Amino acid sequence: MTEVTKTLCPYCGVGCGLEVSPPAQPGKATHRDGQGNPIWRVRGDKAHPSSQGMVCVKGATIAESLDKNRLHYPMVRDSLDQKFRRVSWDEAFDLITKRIQAVRFTQGPEAICMYGSGQFQTEDYYIAQKLLKGCLGSNNFDANSRLCMSSAVAGYIQSFGADGPPCCYEDLELTDCAFLIGTNTAECHPIVFNRLEKYHKRNRKVKMIVVDPRRTPTAEAADLHLAIRPGTDIDLLNGIAHLLMRWNYIDVGFIDDCTSNFPAYAEVICHYSPEIVADRCGIDIKDLETAARYWGESQRVLSLWSMGVNQSSEGTAKVRTIINLHLMTGQIGKPGAGPFSLTGQPNAMGGREAGGLAHLLPGYRLVKNPQHRAEVEEFWGLKRGQISPNPGLTAWDMITGLEDGTVGLLWIAATNPAVSMPDLERTKAALMRSPFTIYQDAYYPTETATYAHVLLPAAQWSEKTGVMTNSERTVTLCPAFRRPPGEAKADWEIFAEVGRRLGFVGEFAFANSAEVYAEFVKLTRDRPCDMTGLSHEQLRSQGPTQWPHPAEEMGRTGDGEINFTPPPHHKSPNTQSSKRLYTNLRFHTPDGRARFGAYHSRGLAEPPDPDYPFVLTTGRLYGHWHTLTRTGRIEKTRQMHPEPFIEIHPRDAARLEITDNQLVEVRSRRSKTFFPAKITKAIAPGTVFVPMHWGALWADNAEANALTHPESCPDSLQPELKACAVQLIPVTAE
Ligand code: SF4
Repeated sequence: MTEVTKTLCPYCGVGCGLEVSPPAQPGKATHRDGQGNPIWRVRGDKAHPSSQGMVCVKGATIAESLDKNRLHYPMVRDSLDQKFRRVSWDEAFDLITKRIQAVRFTQGPEAICMYGSGQFQTEDYYIAQKLLKGCLGSNNFDANSRLCMSSAVAGYIQSFGADGPPCCYEDLELTDCAFLIGTNTAECHPIVFNRLEKYHKRNRKVKMIVVDPRRTPTAEAADLHLAIRPGTDIDLLNGIAHLLMRWNYIDVGFIDDCTSNFPAYAEVICHYSPEIVADRCGIDIKDLETAARYWGESQRVLSLWSMGVNQSSEGTAKVRTIINLHLMTGQIGKPGAGPFSLTGQPNAMGGREAGGLAHLLPGYRLVKNPQHRAEVEEFWGLKRGQISPNPGLTAWDMITGLEDGTVGLLWIAATNPAVSMPDLERTKAALMRSPFTIYQDAYYPTETATYAHVLLPAAQWSEKTGVMTNSERTVTLCPAFRRPPGEAKADWEIFAEVGRRLGFVGEFAFANSAEVYAEFVKLTRDRPCDMTGLSHEQLRSQGPTQWPHPAEEMGRTGDGEINFTPPPHHKSPNTQSSKRLYTNLRFHTPDGRARFGAYHSRGLAEPPDPDYPFVLTTGRLYGHWHTLTRTGRIEKTRQMHPEPFIEIHPRDAARLEITDNQLVEVRSRRSKTFFPAKITKAIAPGTVFVPMHWGALWADNAEANALTHPESCPDSLQPELKACAVQLIPVTAE
């Protein structure tokens, strides 16, 4: 077989197109990994509109991970101190359904939880929602997107009336000013950065501003790097707004015609004079003014952000404060401009579309909205009122639910919370107390498998057919091109079989994932994420396609008709497109206007103090992916960063008498860890940086999230994984 399969890279939300072909090809040497195993050939798909043939080291080496450390068979054990024993799928399903029924009838459906993942395909997400929120009556489905993008979701909904990044990657090459805040794009979204950097180098008039406490590779490429103190993002953003207002760079026509709540916002930003802001942020006043001038003088400003903004106890406020800048300057709904969140996981967007967070329902619907619940109940053939009106437990709520005994069954799939959750000692202690944990994953061992009673082998990317949506709303079909190992099954097939065994036979009578997707697409009709007309067949023949599909027309928002005339001075076409949202300058709010959010800065949930004088910030490294389940087992990516470290500024290192590579004990109020020191001016004095990838399987006492805390944004309920207070103690030889 020499045929090429077009698919999508299953690592990050950039969503690069890949072409995969078999290891053995006539007349060519078979591709092999370091151990001599044949590996599939992978290259970038030049026809994919998002990546245009580009691929980073993770995508290029993905095939080397496919056969390593796979879970082949269902396994069970009665308690965590026992060894697993292999069972048949029939025995595993029987055990799971009995436990679900027992918990339903003794504790109620709210005691059943599922914690899923942006690694799911949309079909997996959809079937999980139907099982949990529809059939079982528990809204307790949350995904690791809660730790990644939920502040962006909340920010978009509050500002625009609906979720959804308004921009597309083409905007990277059309902007006059790229404003990157809380995103190390060069390392975490490399192909987005490649596109932006190439354009920036070609067009010297184009400005790039990077806001980050670290001098990352992204910051190195910027015209202006604002190394603000952690937790002062809103001060900075309000300070830029203050200057835009003072210098009359605002778009009064846009504000008058297309927005609401500007007076409250204007009242807030008048308190953020350049002197106050520069002092709080720890930056030069001239740099603040330069940033404001770049914004104000640009015809088209594009903001990019990621977890540096979202993973914060004021994450939603930060997102809305970024959006405010676009609203006050009319920088939205036109090429090269707009607020653009970059998703972390490959299908975090698909999860949002399918309702894959505890407060969502499929088709960008909200659990709290009675009409939305009624629409889904009717579509699923449920009794009126069957979907609970209460948002379910979030990722961290599930941990506290295990602590207080209200969670009776936890089903974790395609994610590794024993590394990625905050306050890991507490997380692990809670997992130890779980009465019954099902862990469904492609890989074994993982840190989380340690806490499971049941292991279910999941087919992964390449072994199941489904769709994924990337950060620019492009939907790509990812066909299966190899058989799953052992008895592994697609996640959606596992959920559907459990549903049927619980008695919901008709609800889960799907012959294949194409039928699942077809049903899901019907639920998106006339919703902001409309995918009407998309199907596996259509995506296979036409290739990757953006939503809304077909492009929204004036007067079709799904939330009622609004009479609206765009302001005459705005040069956007009076129509909606799939490339960009809000080109008609009509938003999904009841009055059709985008809403300003008026926020004062609250700072960090756990600021430094004399006992814990440093701010620890965490992040990701080029070449690695999340908890190393794949990239830790690929020689090339493993060698790029073989072990964790802590970055310390030379001034702090000198004061504490820490030398390069010396082991440092890092203590927070929750735990202590040990890292070799990397002394570098890339980090600001008073701040230290640790990569988050390494869990207990890979390094002893070097888990970044052992130190972090779970304080969360009140709106998005996303924990502040990006910052906590720590003390540093050099370890000296006895
Ligand atoms: Fe994969 Fe992201 Fe790299 Fe693209 S940028 S190849 S999606 S990891």
